Amino acid sequence: MPQPSTLSMYELTINARVSWQAHSLSTAGTNGSNKVMSRRQILADGSEADACSGSIAKHHHAELLAEYLAATGIPLCQACRHRDGRRVAALVERPEYKNLSIEQILQGCGLCDAHGFLVTAKNANSHQGTEARSKLTKHSLVEFSFALGLPGRAQETLHLFTRSGESKDEGQMLMKIPARSGDFALLVRYTSVGIGVDTYRWQVAIIDEQQRRNRHRAILSALRDALLSPDGAMTATMLPHLTGLEGAIVVQSDVGRAPMYSALKEDFVTRLVAMQSDTCLVYPFATVDAFHAIMQDLITSSDPYLPASYRPEQQQEGDK
Ligand SMILES: [Zn+2]
Repeated sequence: MPQPSTLSMYELTINARVSWQAHSLSTAGTNGSNKVMSRRQILADGSEADACSGSIAKHHHAELLAEYLAATGIPLCQACRHRDGRRVAALVERPEYKNLSIEQILQGCGLCDAHGFLVTAKNANSHQGTEARSKLTKHSLVEFSFALGLPGRAQETLHLFTRSGESKDEGQMLMKIPARSGDFALLVRYTSVGIGVDTYRWQVAIIDEQQRRNRHRAILSALRDALLSPDGAMTATMLPHLTGLEGAIVVQSDVGRAPMYSALKEDFVTRLVAMQSDTCLVYPFATVDAFHAIMQDLITSSDPYLPASYRPEQQQEGDK
């Protein structure tokens, strides 16, 4: 368990094995009367794994995060307030958003700050009367892997559903929809040092400790929820049964990366625990409530690391 005193977090990884029964969280289009195809991924050894894309998990996290940010009074840009996935890039043509600096974007939106955005560069065009625009970008601080079904521990059942037509003449439409069950390996990386930071040029835009802490806690709260309340496709009628959550949370407390190791490997928790050091803290969990307790402690007792060049003690050192 994390200590009650504040823990400085540079980066965090969640290395999880999650069990879902009868879900259809990630789908890959249609094929004739197969209305929904399961997504698949071939692994290095040639085996085929069930797969749920990370973009669904990232979208779910962003939705949850917007709710937490709004509830704690952290500003959202107009696009994020209306859940526009393009984020601030959806607004750059508006007069009030022209000539906006990246510092202003990061200060003005906690979701753009956490999940990143891309405003492409544009040359001035005198014929069209458009002005030049420079590229503004931030990479996401929260990254999700595919959730991959463990070989031999993933099953699929095809269900036949009927849907009545508009009139009697149209009769009934038959649809095949698969439901899958399995144990999935899932990785999440959260680079907390980047909160309020223009990570492209490594400039800190938000120095206020409380503002950075509030954003950090919202991101962790949404991560906790995303694993404990699964979301994705088809949940209206195939809400997954969550039947297991185990793995390890790794916190890097000083500069550097927090290691990751996939639950595709049977000994992943043992290997992660063996990498523990003064700055690499490993918290194994074997149940949903153990995961919940570790996340609760991190939410209340950790702070995002401030980049070294902005730390007061470092500046004093440099001034000598
Ligand atoms: Zn935004």
